Amino acid sequence: MENVIIIGSGCAGWTSAIYTARANLKPLLLTGGQPGGLLTTTGVVENFPGFPEGIDGVEMMMRMQKQAERFGTRVEYGVQITKVDFSKRPFKLWADDQLFESQTVIIAVGASHRHLGVPGETELERKGVTYCATCDGALPVFRNQPLVVVGGGDSACEEATYLTHFGSKVYLIHRRDQLRASKIMADRVLNNPKIQPVWNSVVTEVLDVKQDKVTGVKLRNLQTSAVSELACAGVFGAIGHIPSTGVFTGQIERDADGYIICRQGTNTSVTGVFAAGDCVDRTYRQAITAAGTGCAAAIDSERFLNSCLI
Ligand code: NAP
Repeated sequence: MENVIIIGSGCAGWTSAIYTARANLKPLLLTGGQPGGLLTTTGVVENFPGFPEGIDGVEMMMRMQKQAERFGTRVEYGVQITKVDFSKRPFKLWADDQLFESQTVIIAVGASHRHLGVPGETELERKGVTYCATCDGALPVFRNQPLVVVGGGDSACEEATYLTHFGSKVYLIHRRDQLRASKIMADRVLNNPKIQPVWNSVVTEVLDVKQDKVTGVKLRNLQTSAVSELACAGVFGAIGHIPSTGVFTGQIERDADGYIICRQGTNTSVTGVFAAGDCVDRTYRQAITAAGTGCAAAIDSERFLNSCLI
């Protein structure tokens, strides 16, 4: 029987582990299928306070893990939860046939970027294809080069605007002729001379796998079916996120897009189950904000356990 099980090993998960371990709760952290979470798919993290020269995303996660283990966190690698029963405490969690039981659970399973699903995208990930302008936009490879952002929502507008500080020009590829983004973000894009919207168009291929780097994209106009090529050094996918919360269907409250709904801090709809990081947050999605809510979830779970003892 565990005091606290943490599901997920991104910024939120490791921070929860550091805090619950230091509270002497001997947490058990289940890493999930992608140890380290989304940050391991990015390059240098330059915006996490305390690292003025930046830090490699993988190294950052390894350091957080070391810190969590130093205070007594136990780690189960590659364990992917396939079923949960949160109907009563102790909570039950299964990874296939393996059963875990715990008095509290911190869900920090993160979210994954929705992919374009076109040829060249996977092959050129981290070689010019990325899903986070804030993380990667300032990399030398993108400086003074034409860049492509795909999407028409707030994320795409935010990324496109941010990228104008680095790229020579930013093309915003959107499948319709109207942005979904809020008016203020859309206006910012439409009034920026460095951003050129490409309407009614989708990316059909990222070029060039043979050169092992991004050199451009193939486009198809959805109205005319015309096919064209656009030269660029980077492709920033911003077509939404998918919170990795499917396994909790019917167990805790989630919104229509699958984000876990928290009330009063990190409390989910089940007392004793807390949630933190990108699986809750559809707005900020930064390493530092995930770490912050991971800390909050740890404190909330510690307080809950203390209240059970009174
Ligand atoms: P989003 O609002 O769901 O927008 C996704 C965009 O990608 C849409 O324009 C959509 O096109 C397009 N898209 C989806 N699937 C596609 C596909 N397969 N191929 C091509 N295009 C595709 O996602 P988001 O922009 O990440 O925003 C998510 C939430 O976070 C929103 O509530 C947003 O307001 C919020 N957010 C807020 C801020 C801020 O306030 N600073 C910043 C970022 C995000 P359609 O328009 O045709 O559907």
